[in-house]
Amino acid sequence: MEVTFWGVRGSIPAPGPGTVRYGGNTSCVSIRTGGGKLLVLDCGTGARNLGLALLAEGATDGFRVGNGEAAILLSHTHWDHIQGFPFFSPLYVAGNVFQIYGPAESSALLEGILEGQMAPQYFPVQTLKNMGAHIGIQAVTTGVPFDVLGCKVTAVANPHGRAGALAFRVDDAGRSVVYASDAGYGPGGPSSEAVALYQGADLLIHDSTYTPEDRARYPQRGLASVVEAVTAAVRGRARRVVLFHYDQDYTDADIDLLIARGRRQLEGMSSGLKLDVVGAAEGLTLLV
Ligand SMILES: [Zn+2]
Repeated sequence: MEVTFWGVRGSIPAPGPGTVRYGGNTSCVSIRTGGGKLLVLDCGTGARNLGLALLAEGATDGFRVGNGEAAILLSHTHWDHIQGFPFFSPLYVAGNVFQIYGPAESSALLEGILEGQMAPQYFPVQTLKNMGAHIGIQAVTTGVPFDVLGCKVTAVANPHGRAGALAFRVDDAGRSVVYASDAGYGPGGPSSEAVALYQGADLLIHDSTYTPEDRARYPQRGLASVVEAVTAAVRGRARRVVLFHYDQDYTDADIDLLIARGRRQLEGMSSGLKLDVVGAAEGLTLLV
């Protein structure tokens, strides 16, 4: 699998001279499977650049996304995870087929939430039905693996504010990527279900919004510190952890320190685990 980061920021886009190296767009990650299928993890503002890249790819050959099919997995529907959706250009191309998976009590409720941000008071296109592509919407049942474009996907709910956030594990051809953004664990860390989801992941993309000090300052936001991210990766015996979803107020220099702190945390744990600690950055591609 090829994993590319298009937006690595939490809460609100943070463009400007202080964030050029890691990027200011909000959460969006793409996975290209070995079979060429496309899975998009969250649709923050980074999805706009992903859409433009996909259109450019298809410019000479008619536009195709993995033979016209792609899936979008939404961890939850806070703004920083759906705001790029109306600006994701492939959704406007007739003939494309997108299946969207996300958290809600029913598929109709999830569709209603996504339609909400398309209301004329917020956005001129007005409805998903005007976008051009065929869009299917499906609420996810946690703990029950399901097939997405030939991949096995499993979801577990992590605590995050009142609504929670889904963590996804994508298994394809013997390799695994886990996406666990917005994880506001209690004092005991991740649940046993979450640790099982992270278990042996080749790549664990994990919420690392805060330093431990800022985490303690904003407990009600339900987001993880870099220490919790590394600890979760060690508990899950992951092979590589990508620190992700940085606080909007952190500059590039702050994030350099955050990543260094994550690596020190790992050394201090003497886990004996061979774990790479990587900082997510816009444009970074990792092969899994
Ligand atoms: Zn959130």
